[in-house]
Amino acid sequence: MDIRFYNTLTNEVERFEPVTPGQVKMYSCGPTVYDFAHVGNFRSFLFADLLRRFLEASGYDVSHVMNITDVGHMTDDAAADGLGEDKMQVAARRLKEDKKSGKVEDGAVENPDDPYQVAEYFMRAFLEDGRALGLKVAREFPDRVPKATEYIDEMQKMISTLIEREHAYVGDDGVVYYSVESFPKYGQLSGNTLDALRVGAGGRIDESDQSCKRHPADFMLWKPDRKHIMKWDSPWGAGYPGWHIECSTMSMQVLKTEVLDIHTGGEDLIFPHHECEIAQSCGATGNDLFARFWMHARFLLVEGEKMSKRSGNFFTVRDILSGKASGAPVHPAVLRLELIKSHYRAHSNFTTKGLTDSANTVRRITELGQRLRDECDDKPAEIDRTDHPIVRDFLEALANDLNVSEAMKAVHAFLSSPGQDAAEAYGVLLALDHVLGVWELTSVDSAADDPESDIAANLCAMIDEARKARDFSAADSHRQRLIELGYEVRSSAEGTSATKKFA
Ligand SMILES: [Zn+2]
Repeated sequence: MDIRFYNTLTNEVERFEPVTPGQVKMYSCGPTVYDFAHVGNFRSFLFADLLRRFLEASGYDVSHVMNITDVGHMTDDAAADGLGEDKMQVAARRLKEDKKSGKVEDGAVENPDDPYQVAEYFMRAFLEDGRALGLKVAREFPDRVPKATEYIDEMQKMISTLIEREHAYVGDDGVVYYSVESFPKYGQLSGNTLDALRVGAGGRIDESDQSCKRHPADFMLWKPDRKHIMKWDSPWGAGYPGWHIECSTMSMQVLKTEVLDIHTGGEDLIFPHHECEIAQSCGATGNDLFARFWMHARFLLVEGEKMSKRSGNFFTVRDILSGKASGAPVHPAVLRLELIKSHYRAHSNFTTKGLTDSANTVRRITELGQRLRDECDDKPAEIDRTDHPIVRDFLEALANDLNVSEAMKAVHAFLSSPGQDAAEAYGVLLALDHVLGVWELTSVDSAADDPESDIAANLCAMIDEARKARDFSAADSHRQRLIELGYEVRSSAEGTSATKKFA
């Protein structure tokens, strides 16, 4: 199968082949853990997950790494200058407000003034959200999910190498800067030129604060700052690393390679973050390539508009799943499908209508999965997982730069006529679901170790007991609790059962 992806580096759709045949090394910029992840963040994370799962389904052995940015960076770090307020301090302040308002449960963070506790709290929340939504890499914590604060030594080593190789210098302000003029390819990924950057293209560079830099686009690698909320000793004074150096270091360290096959992120990271990653990594290794494929997911819109706290359409994953956003709880499989089903290079538009459509598809997959599993007694046929005609149609669509809407057509065709042989059809469903990740979240098997399904089973038993004891008000209150948790409750002579609703 010919796999083709759009490469931001070359602005072309190119044939994909990994450096080592059969093995893919892939790095994705992960969350900054200063807050709960929002649906826009997860659109980008789940795009990487879809890509990884597709490559696995196509027979590749994929090593996927996603980092955690837990160093307290500055609010203006996008400009890479270490200006503004420390994000971890902002997080601590917000956390105190959230504790007061009950958004953060009591005792979750003992001391909101301790940045490590704040980071730990939001990292755990991210991992929980990720696991709920079937983000495979979140299940591989900590091996594939490195924390920046645990790689400070390696970052310092890379900075030293960059200084030795004359790609970096210590400015009069004591800050270690990367010299963009030392790297002729700077700007290649984002289409910037040093001249355009010098005049402050797009207002990204503030000329007033450039006195210590050789070029206004030079960016910070290490900032000595004794007062910083998180600081480490270094040859350049106690301080903290720049944001960009984290990803250059962790990607190469954890994936044990100097050249990645694929690097992903949201489109907002192309400049300056990814541009700087290339300059640092190539500067340190001397290679002229850091990642062969750069793949970027576009912004998520909410009901056709850019998501922002000010317009009140800013949703965390938790807001959606709990029903706080739309008034009704949403099953994680529904949110997952909703966030992966539009093409990564198109603006995904998150809407209530879209969620309803996704809920319908999830329901169809789940009902078919249940029926097929029962009919074949949970013994799927061993189909050819790349060459079975239905799976092939599905994978071939994805091989075309992840054309997910075309791939979903193959899924819907299968849902409409899954064929007569239940064991074969169940094998197909499992093969498709390796990529979709829907049935794995809705099938009872995977729900068995989900504490929520234990709660549901318990409540059902309590309803039956209460009914037997003719305590109908107790039975009603247990029923009400289940409904609040998003279950449909049925009581009959055989007893009470609860099924999770998908919208
Ligand atoms: Zn990054």
